[in-house]
Amino acid sequence: MNVRVRFAPSPTGPLHMGGVRTALYNFLFARKHGGQFLLRIEDTDQGRYVPGAEEYIKESLEWCGLVPDESPWVGGPDGPYRQSDRKHLYKQYADELIAKDKAYYAFDTPEELEAMRARLHAAGVAAPAYNAVTREHMKNSLTLSADEVQERLARREPYVVRLKVPRQAEVRFEDIIRGWVVVHSANIDDKVLFKSDGMPTYHLANIVDDHLMRITHVIRGEEWLPSAPLHVLIYEAFGWDRPAFAHLPLILKPDGNGKLSKRDGDRLGFPVFSLDWVDPVSKEKSSGYRERGYYPEAFINMLALLGWNPGTDQEIMSIAELTELFDLERVHKGGAKFDPEKTKWFNQQYLRKRPDAELGAQLQARLNAMGIESSIERATAAAALLKERATFVEDMLEGIYLFTTGSPLTNNSAALEELKKRWKPEGASAINAYASSLSSLAPFDAPSLETAFNQMLADKALKVGQVMPIYRLFVAGRMQGPGMFDVSALLGREEVVARLKAGIELCGSWA
Ligand code: GLU
Repeated sequence: MNVRVRFAPSPTGPLHMGGVRTALYNFLFARKHGGQFLLRIEDTDQGRYVPGAEEYIKESLEWCGLVPDESPWVGGPDGPYRQSDRKHLYKQYADELIAKDKAYYAFDTPEELEAMRARLHAAGVAAPAYNAVTREHMKNSLTLSADEVQERLARREPYVVRLKVPRQAEVRFEDIIRGWVVVHSANIDDKVLFKSDGMPTYHLANIVDDHLMRITHVIRGEEWLPSAPLHVLIYEAFGWDRPAFAHLPLILKPDGNGKLSKRDGDRLGFPVFSLDWVDPVSKEKSSGYRERGYYPEAFINMLALLGWNPGTDQEIMSIAELTELFDLERVHKGGAKFDPEKTKWFNQQYLRKRPDAELGAQLQARLNAMGIESSIERATAAAALLKERATFVEDMLEGIYLFTTGSPLTNNSAALEELKKRWKPEGASAINAYASSLSSLAPFDAPSLETAFNQMLADKALKVGQVMPIYRLFVAGRMQGPGMFDVSALLGREEVVARLKAGIELCGSWA
């Protein structure tokens, strides 16, 4: 079988990370089976169309490396498939169902529909619906004479085409992730498939397109599970083979209580969208993973594991490995809790794997923007030291003291506070002795610095913990960061000795 899958977003706003995960699982499944991954923009509902959303979707997929097949981006002739461009296609399918007595025209006005609902409510029906029972009492081609239907059509009266859902039938299908789904047709209403404005509804366009595009597997979010029995009925009405279904679990809030929303991201400080987005109407801004400094590989890796695992403990996987390992059978049924800390952890793992020279160039650019000069060699050496503690490239700026001159204690009340807690009078003599030993140290590198430091500790009968924090605060101005011997080697003799002396000058008189 030639596997063909599609990602079928509606351009109603920015792409939520759940949407990217749906695209990713489709992409992985297609690649694994040597099939095609299509992008289909489902824009039949013009009322919900948001300008810019389609471009956003494409840009997100490109950023994530999930480029669809049969798309002009890769030189194909047809895509991305856009339902509004295919508008002319759908009417014949609505007509076909009417001809087969599987669908019918309905002419009820909004007032008549409302009156029907009110009547049923009054009679104690909890969820009134246009269905096998109620359609008998409405204005449609099942209750009106053929002549009257023709007259109304000739008068161009507004109508809809509704699916004629069988009254007594069991709708069954096997979902790859959820197993057997069985729904009684009495619980399915006669959904609108087509409107007299010439536009199909989502349901009709979705099924016709999946059929015409020879889609073999429909892999989509759990929110579409309730529509699946209706879709099965539409396939049956046409007499078409239907694709396999796989409904992906919801992505849940970090505490597991309900679906992850943009509001959770705003409240807890993480993006829920792939890229930054500005709402074209409200001008409200939402942040994206790309602009926050995430690597697409890390974002994808995190998303892949949000609802699936390879059956081992392996967490770091390239897109090639994911393709190799992915299968729908291992996708979980239950919702997947989003973990913002774990997401950062993924980025950190990917950052560590970047070449020092690349990180150095990025650090250098950021320093330049702040008006701090650095050679690429020095920025690269600093990046090599700083990357272990960084989640984002931005975080390497914590090591700015590697590029400035002068004591990092100047205007640094946090460091002085810390020093006050740690200072002991013997610190002065220890640091003094160490500083003097540095004047003739050769080579001035990390191993020699460490030897000199240990020698001084032995001479003074002091422990590392008594002197190292002071050394660190004097030279780096902060308690966290890379090892002080590496830091000192990078700063160079003159600067280190000057910072040590400046520190003594500041604290030497403290009791
Ligand atoms: N247009 C639907 C959406 O926005 C597609 C659902 C499907 O994949 O069938 O998610």
